[in-house]
Amino acid sequence: AKANGRNNYQFFKEAMNLTAARHFELESSLRGALAANEFELYFQPIMDIGTRRLHAMEVLLRWRRGGASGELVTPDQFIPIIEENGMIVPIGEWVIREACRQSKVWQSQGMTPVPLAVNLSPRQFMHRGLVESIRAILDETGIDPALIEFEITETALMQHGEQTLEILGHINAMGIRLSIDDFGTGYSSLAYLKRFPVKKIKIDRAFIKDLEQSAEDRAIVAAIIALSDSLQLSVVAEGVETEGQYALLQQHGCQYAQGYLFSQPVPHITAQLLLPRT
Ligand code: C2E
Ligand code: CA
Ligand code: CA
Ligand code: CA
Repeated sequence: AKANGRNNYQFFKEAMNLTAARHFELESSLRGALAANEFELYFQPIMDIGTRRLHAMEVLLRWRRGGASGELVTPDQFIPIIEENGMIVPIGEWVIREACRQSKVWQSQGMTPVPLAVNLSPRQFMHRGLVESIRAILDETGIDPALIEFEITETALMQHGEQTLEILGHINAMGIRLSIDDFGTGYSSLAYLKRFPVKKIKIDRAFIKDLEQSAEDRAIVAAIIALSDSLQLSVVAEGVETEGQYALLQQHGCQYAQGYLFSQPVPHITAQLLLPRT
């Protein structure tokens, strides 16, 4: 048993080293990624449930590791690393600028842009220069602030008390709308969130996944929608994959839906095909 124990330990140590090595390797190739222009924005439609038309698009970051013909790396593999080492600040700023720039390009090409929802990470949100850099980007690109929204998780909001209200107030005053992302996974209540200048909440995919099978999830989703209604918040259901889920959300009066049922996140050349032309 002792020998076996040591083998397990040995195995565990190797697995840990592998993870650490992979982490180190990713972190060092991420260092030059922004300068080498290896990041790309993908866009995923958010649909109006009533009309089944495009309402907005969420901006999702991708990393083309090693340049043009490199592999496409999804955020779960690198966001935690750049969140930890602080690189999320310049990269996140690039995301906001690039989203604004893309919206302007679409406009200049005769398309009617829909609002773009950009994710803000907790670290980015805490960063002192955030408000100033948003202001500079709005100035520089000349974008209508109504065409940009920020998504922030409830956990990020709960972390920084008074400072949070102040930052949200500044962003709101610029005319940029705010949504609560991954709603239901943190520890906040909708009533509490009402203190913040938030217009929209996004129900986490965890509650949508088994909507058709689980009466409990249906009850939770119905309650979130009902309470949001009475607080005059819009609701987006995330991760909608089936017509059955869509029908249930419609029955419960959910306004917006996002998920593979409509589209996966797509590059800008595909996303622009979804935009109405003026
Ligand atoms: P999120 O903000 O909750 O974004 C939604 C995620 O769910 C996206 O994953 C999207 O591709 C995925 N998704 C959408 N519809 C479906 C569906 O029907 N089924 C399933 N299974 N998944 C669906 P993605 O693009 O891999 O992004 C993962 C997370 O990375 C995001 O979660 C967000 O927290 C973070 N992220 C992405 N881009 C950025 C960014 O620019 N800045 C920051 N700070 N975080 C980002
Ligand atoms: Ca999001
Ligand atoms: Ca989400
Ligand atoms: Ca999520």
